[in-house]
Amino acid sequence: MVIVMKFGGSSVADSTCMRHVLELVREALPRGPLVVLSAMGKTTDALFRAARLAERGHLEEALAESRALYAKHRTAAEELLPRGLPVDLVALLEQQREELDLLLRGVALLRELSPRSMDAIASQGERLSTLLFSRYVAEADVSGELFDARNAVRTDGAFGSAQPDLEEIRALASEHLKPLVGPGRCVVTQGYIGSTVQGFTTTLGRGGSDYSASLLGAALGAEEVQIWTDVEGVLTADPRVIPAAQPIAELSFAEAAELAAFGAKVLHPATIQPAIDADIPVTVRHTMRPNGRFTLIRSQRAAELAPKPAAPRRPITALASRGPITVLTLTSTRMFHQSGYLARVFDVFGRMGVSVDLVATAEVSVSCTIEADAPIEALVRELSRFATIEVAQQRAIVAVVGARMKDTPGLVSRIFGALGDIAPELVSLGGNEINLSLVVPKDAAAEALRRLHRAFFEGSAA
Ligand code: ADP
Ligand code: ASP
Ligand code: MG
Repeated sequence: MVIVMKFGGSSVADSTCMRHVLELVREALPRGPLVVLSAMGKTTDALFRAARLAERGHLEEALAESRALYAKHRTAAEELLPRGLPVDLVALLEQQREELDLLLRGVALLRELSPRSMDAIASQGERLSTLLFSRYVAEADVSGELFDARNAVRTDGAFGSAQPDLEEIRALASEHLKPLVGPGRCVVTQGYIGSTVQGFTTTLGRGGSDYSASLLGAALGAEEVQIWTDVEGVLTADPRVIPAAQPIAELSFAEAAELAAFGAKVLHPATIQPAIDADIPVTVRHTMRPNGRFTLIRSQRAAELAPKPAAPRRPITALASRGPITVLTLTSTRMFHQSGYLARVFDVFGRMGVSVDLVATAEVSVSCTIEADAPIEALVRELSRFATIEVAQQRAIVAVVGARMKDTPGLVSRIFGALGDIAPELVSLGGNEINLSLVVPKDAAAEALRRLHRAFFEGSAA
């Protein structure tokens, strides 16, 4: 038996938080917890800052960031282990600080920050938080150990947002990790980081610890993947934009995947896929309110088989938003009816490594959304061979997600009615009919969310 418990940065921000985490882990000991940790608090941001300072040649400032980070971890260690730091822990902390400083010096010397160097630097946060927490666990007489995630999370060499190799991860986890986990034991490992077959450290992209948790959960056949964070589950909208957002008791895998893909930061966008593949429920829980509300994400089939049927659901489950993004509109009166036209157009995006999110086609034009940092000029140059191109920047996607949307007549007109004078520039209803995506000017996105939330979730209209 094994469950995965992933704790995000704010859940392990200091020694007090880590103590609290140990209590949650202690309660879960009979279920064989694999504890996946993020870096403490804002550590990863600080590591990125240090790396960029070094790249610009500001070595002293970069080393000052490193010293501050080290001091923060050292203080947390002393608070967690008040009887004194073991000599080998002091040596390990020192060794890691030297490694970080060496990396920063290398970057400053060359004035070059390759994605590979960035990942080596960024990995320090999770390596430090897990080192401290595993020592604290041992001191608290809980049996278990620290497992280096790089011995199981095999990825490709796309540093900065590496793609995991699921089969390899399953094989490596079976061989090296499975024998360590089990009831009564707490195994601690890093989120976010992995390694290539050559042994280079990689990362899964910012916020990637959620993804690590589901990858390892799937590889081990865990009975549950728990994402512990600073909100009571997935809410009906981003609480930073909509303070009245409410927790959602239950979501289907498809709904959660859409929400994560369209900007609900509470889950890394790739988290759900491994859970779908292995059919493992994912729960999202508040670390400081463990007995409060939480979200259960599971397959439709599991929901139907559950003894207690899911609560009646609203037509819309939640809202999300992502931006800035750019909209490209290609217009050509001549070519649209030619076979293979769209294939040739999208081949251009493929060759340039630009991923297309939403697509809407009309008789003589096709519009699509791409990330704001895509190489627009080069794209436009290439695409101009096929069509006239219009570029609209500073846009945002507002996604309306709900498995029951398709069964609710008149919903689209209610959505447009709620938006009032915010006229969407592009509308796309996903093939699975659970996501209606609207493109609006970036500055109007928050207001669009507020209007939709008010109409569908607040008051008697909900
Ligand atoms: P962690 O460090 O635990 O991974 P994150 O900051 O990555 O936490 O994710 C949690 C945050 O996601 C919340 O504090 C909240 O501000 C934000 N968030 C955005 N959209 C949603 C949503 N729909 N439901 C819950 N939280 C959301
Ligand atoms: N520490 C990493 C980040 O801040 C990964 C994570 O927290 O999920 O992006
Ligand atoms: Mg996160």
